[in-house]
Amino acid sequence: MNILVINAGSSSLKYQLFDMDTESILAKGVCDRIGIDGHLKHTPVSGGKPVYDSDVPLPTHAEAINAVIEKLTSSEYGVIADLAEIDAVGHRVVHGGRKFSESVLIDEDVLAAIEECTLLAPLHVPANLTGVDACRKVMPGVPQAAVFDTAFHHTMPDYAYTYPIPYKYYEENDIKRYGFHGTSHRYVSARAIELLGAGAQGTKIVTCHLGNGSSLAAVKDGKCIDTTMGVTPLEGVPMGTRSGTVDPTLLDLISTIEGGITLRESLDILNKKSGVLGVSGVSSDFRDIEAAKLGGNDRARLALDLFNYQVAKHIGSFIAVMGGADALVFTAGIGENSPNTRKGICSFLGGAGIAIDESKNDVKGEYAEITGAGSSARVFIVPTDEELVIARDTKALVACKA
Ligand code: AMP
Repeated sequence: MNILVINAGSSSLKYQLFDMDTESILAKGVCDRIGIDGHLKHTPVSGGKPVYDSDVPLPTHAEAINAVIEKLTSSEYGVIADLAEIDAVGHRVVHGGRKFSESVLIDEDVLAAIEECTLLAPLHVPANLTGVDACRKVMPGVPQAAVFDTAFHHTMPDYAYTYPIPYKYYEENDIKRYGFHGTSHRYVSARAIELLGAGAQGTKIVTCHLGNGSSLAAVKDGKCIDTTMGVTPLEGVPMGTRSGTVDPTLLDLISTIEGGITLRESLDILNKKSGVLGVSGVSSDFRDIEAAKLGGNDRARLALDLFNYQVAKHIGSFIAVMGGADALVFTAGIGENSPNTRKGICSFLGGAGIAIDESKNDVKGEYAEITGAGSSARVFIVPTDEELVIARDTKALVACKA
């Protein structure tokens, strides 16, 4: 069974075609600058075919999907003979609101319910839906599934997800802490449970998805009981360009300081000009900031220190409310690739009993156990694989329906 996984953004569309009999990737790629001019990079993984990397006109997501199908089936770059070899499509959907606690096959009712989540993620949900729409047009009759970033966090208790604001906003407007990166937290926590080796029951795991966007989850008995992101991905730890949690009064203060800019413009500053970029003034990319720190830039040092401190503080609070931890897991761009960040975070966690082995920590982009002598929890680096989770869920949903 071949499953195409689609991650559609407002001007981009990433894809991976899986052979689910072997869970191997046949091809992957990305359409960029959709609606502007258009660029497609297509990488066949099986069959020794060459990479295609060129500008192509992509006025809408429909042309992007058509271009992807053309490359997947072409004699020069293709990995399948024709469209009929795509058995199902799995879509990443950023927000599933209160309605979706697990992945679903898409029909008209599901589409309408996803559309209702637009208020909660006005930039992302419409972009995700354009990908669904385009696939339904180009591949009518092929089952499509939606896999939600928020779904894994649905098991949080009400006292963890309820904001202390007038309750009507929850009842009438669905305002609550949803959390994001759920597919990643789900994958790496399941992997940690396998590594711990005694089943999910009784396990206590803190997962740290540290990338351009960063979030942490507390996973008890295999279920999420708390996470750092909120109704939007702005809440929680500091990120590349996002402030994470700050005093909300800052919105008003920034507006006044900037000569009366609107609330949305203030929010834009917290979303796009803050985080480690805002503090360091160097970059949102940890590689650049680490290099600047090595060169003696003290604001780069400060940005990294405050990131590590805030992440450690949340890890500590999750360990406290779970009554301990069996495993701490690092994943995503920074979590997988930055030994300095892992070391910096764990340097604040000695009091919580966490220790890492510095020589084992000296790895990038691969699975490793980096537990130090006497550590109260095992510490793992687990490369995340959200696309594989989407493909697995899609396969299971199609099998269920058959
Ligand atoms: P992601 O959003 O998961 O793709 O993570 C992207 C981020 O990972 C980049 O913006 C960098 O900040 C970070 N990153 C990737 N590679 C490295 C590395 N070798 N060292 C430090 N940070 C890295």
